[in-house]
Amino acid sequence: MSVSAVAADSSVCAPLAVLGRDVTVPLVTGGEVTYAALDYAASAPALQRVWDDVAAYAPYYGSVHRGAGYLSQLSTDLFENSRKTVAEFLGCREDDQVVFTRSTTDSLNLLAAALPADCQVFVFETEHHASLLPWRDARVTCLNAPRTPDEAVQTLERALADRDPYGPALVCVTGASNVTGELWPVRELAAAAHAHGARIVLDAAQLAPHHPVSVAELDVDWVAFSGHKLYAPFGSGVLAGRSDWLRAAEPYLAGGGASRKVARRADGGVDVEWHDSAARHEAGSPNVIGVYSIASACKALTDAGFDELVAREQHLIRTVREGLAEVPQVRILSLFGDDAPRVGVISFVVDGWNSSHFAAALSAEYGIGVRDGLFCAHPLVRTLLGSEPDEPGECGAPEAAPGEKSLNAIRVSFGAGT
Ligand code: PLP
Repeated sequence: MSVSAVAADSSVCAPLAVLGRDVTVPLVTGGEVTYAALDYAASAPALQRVWDDVAAYAPYYGSVHRGAGYLSQLSTDLFENSRKTVAEFLGCREDDQVVFTRSTTDSLNLLAAALPADCQVFVFETEHHASLLPWRDARVTCLNAPRTPDEAVQTLERALADRDPYGPALVCVTGASNVTGELWPVRELAAAAHAHGARIVLDAAQLAPHHPVSVAELDVDWVAFSGHKLYAPFGSGVLAGRSDWLRAAEPYLAGGGASRKVARRADGGVDVEWHDSAARHEAGSPNVIGVYSIASACKALTDAGFDELVAREQHLIRTVREGLAEVPQVRILSLFGDDAPRVGVISFVVDGWNSSHFAAALSAEYGIGVRDGLFCAHPLVRTLLGSEPDEPGECGAPEAAPGEKSLNAIRVSFGAGT
């Protein structure tokens, strides 16, 4: 089947037209094309206000925490004020720490490295790999995919009831799925975790760009998210939450900035005292621009008013889903059902088409940029498609004849934040 044969089925494009075309890209062959970039779940375009803030700061760029000069002082202020802005944006508790990282993946790996000895970790198989995989040095229980939010809570409760009640335990859960866009019952899962003496970390990579997240209100112990999905440029992320496990752990990276005092011992070794603050896990020169961009994006979203953003996005979600549902060959993927609350992430398969070819044709022939594959959530997408672990998916999925199951999917994702 040729790519143009796939694209001949333009009925799928019509429902996507409501999402508009927001990027003008130069072509290598000359000229330019205006394009619908609908892959916000991978990386959302940075807001103009964020670029403006970064441009205004750029002439004053300096190293933080180290210099006596004016530029260093200014940069240190911006860096530490960014920490306060992020803490406010996340509704952190008084004694929570905000640690700047490279990304959500980095944040969750940091927490994994800070787990107390013998910690048990509970994750659903539906998680993004960033929240499924970092715990491999701990005792991990991987829970079956639930088919309703209530079943998620019951599954977790059953698993926690069976755990060693005296040891530490952590639950890791995503707030909004990067595959189905569905919201997970975070508050209820947090209550279940705490009722059994466990802690919980929220992967808010997909939730925070679409919904207000309050650490205190949700009663989660930690939250992780990435700047590049929250309308800031690449390279920075956040882990925020309880300081005790972070303070008790060895630094994630050893080096300058994390250490308070270092001394050569008479026996030739080196003694070190580490900081107790967030700096403990931020060794090396930090990504000041990235951190400042995250704070700028947090402020921009707050100023824009989440209520209005959510309402606009929900309208777009309904319109696109209803439009796609009218195309007989399209099957929208969902774990919790059509009525589940969700963010602007919609994955689907088109009967008879290879998802990768379909996605390529949407880009080449219609100027619509989407993502295809298993979206770094292989077990979840396989559950949704009914395929087996040894069947190919992410790359090289074979053609699916009409009526046959697809081995990978197409994802359209967007937000109302731009
Ligand atoms: N968690 C979820 C739910 C995601 O969708 C992603 C990225 O797609 C991540 C974690 C990882 O984010 P990053 O690649 O910024 O580390």
